[in-house]
Amino acid sequence: MRVTTVGVVGAGAMGSGIAALAASAGCRVVLLDIPGDADPASPNRSAPARNGLAKAMKSKPASFMDAASTRRVVTGNTEDHLGLLADCDWIVEAIIELPEPKQQLFAKIESLMKPTAIIASNTSGIPMSTLLYGRSEKFRRRFLGTHFFNPPRYMHLLEVIPTPETDPAVIGALREFAERTMGKGIVIAKDVPGFIANRLGVYGMVATMRRMEQHGLTLDEVDGLTGVLIGRARSATFRTGDLSGLDVLAHVTKGIGDATGEDFGLPAWMLDLVAQGKLGDKTAGGFYTKTKEGTLTYDWKNRGYVPQQRLEGGDIGQAIRMPVAQRLPAAKALGGAHGAFLRDHLLDAAHYALTLASQLSYDLVAIDRAMEWGYGWEAGPFQVMDALGLDWLRSEFAARGQTIPPLLESTKGSFYRDQEHLTYQGTYEPIPAIPGRISLAGLAKAGRVLDDNGLARLIDLGDGVACFEFRSKMNTLGEGVLKGLESALSKVQKLGFNGMVIGNEDPRAFSVGADLSLVAFAVSAGAWDDVALSCKAFQDSVMSVRRAPFPVVIAPAGMTLGGGAEFTLHADAVQAHAETYMGLVEAGVGLLPGGGGTKELLVRFTSELANYEEVDYFAAVKRAFKLIAFATTSTSAFEARAQGYLRNSDRISMNRDHQLADAKRRVLDLAPGYLPPIEASVRAIGREGMGNLEYALWAAKEGGQASAHDVRVGRAIAYVLCGGDGAPRDVTEQDILDLEREQFLSLLGTKETQERIAYTLKTGKPLRN
Ligand code: NAD
Repeated sequence: MRVTTVGVVGAGAMGSGIAALAASAGCRVVLLDIPGDADPASPNRSAPARNGLAKAMKSKPASFMDAASTRRVVTGNTEDHLGLLADCDWIVEAIIELPEPKQQLFAKIESLMKPTAIIASNTSGIPMSTLLYGRSEKFRRRFLGTHFFNPPRYMHLLEVIPTPETDPAVIGALREFAERTMGKGIVIAKDVPGFIANRLGVYGMVATMRRMEQHGLTLDEVDGLTGVLIGRARSATFRTGDLSGLDVLAHVTKGIGDATGEDFGLPAWMLDLVAQGKLGDKTAGGFYTKTKEGTLTYDWKNRGYVPQQRLEGGDIGQAIRMPVAQRLPAAKALGGAHGAFLRDHLLDAAHYALTLASQLSYDLVAIDRAMEWGYGWEAGPFQVMDALGLDWLRSEFAARGQTIPPLLESTKGSFYRDQEHLTYQGTYEPIPAIPGRISLAGLAKAGRVLDDNGLARLIDLGDGVACFEFRSKMNTLGEGVLKGLESALSKVQKLGFNGMVIGNEDPRAFSVGADLSLVAFAVSAGAWDDVALSCKAFQDSVMSVRRAPFPVVIAPAGMTLGGGAEFTLHADAVQAHAETYMGLVEAGVGLLPGGGGTKELLVRFTSELANYEEVDYFAAVKRAFKLIAFATTSTSAFEARAQGYLRNSDRISMNRDHQLADAKRRVLDLAPGYLPPIEASVRAIGREGMGNLEYALWAAKEGGQASAHDVRVGRAIAYVLCGGDGAPRDVTEQDILDLEREQFLSLLGTKETQERIAYTLKTGKPLRN
């Protein structure tokens, strides 16, 4: 039961997002919506689905991972093209949230779907039993709920809701497809209103607003208190609300309130915002609004906007820097109104999760994962409770006159201990593994660290493969990391291992590149010899990956910038996560890639042409020049491949949880009989290429698109890529590396580049000078 063809009915926000994700993953997709015109001959007949697709193609952040995958989607309408669903392996309904249209649609699909197809609903809250009304037993066995989060590409969570009648093989096949092909994190949820994440998330939102009013706090204060400080997403409460939309929030709270009979009534001032069309980021303003003068925050007491006053520094600023297990006790102990609000809020959330847990899920791990993957929390509710201390919860519940939930009573000390969790039966069992995941933190805990210098470490992945992990701030590459790599490479060789992976588990960055602050410091101290030596050491380090006598597979994910991209370019093979944002961005700070990146793009693009007669090597040089001079960064691994940062032979893991295991398998694939590649000969096109690029730079300056310093930087890049301005000739990789260093250092010596670096370090933004 392999899923390769997907049918999506409903081309709205969710349907088109699901279609885009499935197409990006490589599936063929049929996307249907209602007919746009009653006349069967009308050209607008399939306009709703076409428009849904067009919207997804333009959406920001992008729904599709690359332009090419849009061609895998076929659009149509439910009157003329329902038959296209007969070929689909997985059909998901994402139409209007009303029972009757969904029931009618399923009745039609039942008559044409193939017997092996999986059929699913993306409903947010209609009970599965209602949706299945009138359906055959055969249909019921193939049916389950698949509840995606918006936007489907970026939200890791997929809640899967089987019914008692769902065939276990269907759950298994859907799970395999959703995890491996679409890269989602699966949580099995029970068929109750709001399922897991929205039930707890929406409760938290409403409870937070009520406590905010009671304690007389502002939205800014509440967002400062309910984000990172308590292990939640950076967007905290109200910025999350603006992201999801105030109308969606009002709709979902009403739906869950009606279905459960619980009081999820929203405050009048918030309903007023919805009535005024202030719905968050999709409109001009919501809880916050952006103006030319800066961000304004809604003042619920006076019902107007006031300048934002973020809650920063002091005890809160200090606590935020602690690991989450210490951060929560520190948050709980805060003084004044902030502490009083937080204690009330944490107790509300804990009591609700404890009371409801077993109605929502089959184990509490599912609850923590749902909040981590669906709401971006660093720690789920039960991890939070462990950090707060269960005795504290018991005594506070008693002091507030609340019952002690039986689940809390059944703990022996904590919800998690070692690798176990408390079950709803009161026993402790192993934490269910995330299928296919290698956990570096877990291996380190189990004593598998082979080498560690504080900034980088080497971990034994088993089967004779080690993983080298950067561990500096944002995984910047400084002397310590490079020393760690040198030691790791020699250790892997000494141990006779098959090879090495370079990767990590950082949710944000593989590496943001060289540590600019160190470069700036050395330059301001006039330590030019040191800078030159560091530059050579960086190149040597990058090349040592290429020259290692065993395969090195690099596993980038998230930001893979500057030096991080240069390392990646030198791997024997890359196993990238689909969400890899890779780029040689040095030109932004007035530099060029001086760690082998300029050289490697030249080698790569010219060698692609080497087997043709009468080739125009300038085309290869121009391609590399454009990527580097415009500091082009990919918005996905698929785009990085189209741009040339990744090769066709480099592979992509859709699921971050699988990436290290995939990279390890790649090492084992390459290891038998492995020999390092020999150094390439490079065609240097010399003065003619320089002339062409200099002309283009001059034209850009005349046209006002480039400053004099941009031209200076562009000329340095061109000089390296053309192998200087002499006669055309074949040179070695080392020759180009030497030119790279020379030009890098000469740019670094300019006042304008130093100003760009200082500005970027201070503001995080590029300076145009
Ligand atoms: P939407 O309004 O953006 O899109 C719904 C689409 O379905 C529209 O294009 C509409 O023309 C089409 N449609 C309506 N009736 C139809 C029918 N009978 N046949 C074919 N197409 C029909 O809604 P959405 O936000 O994409 O939500 C779709 C489903 O996903 C709902 O069940 C919703 O509860 C659920 N959901 C939404 C979110 C969210 O954040 N928006 C998250 C998870 C689940």
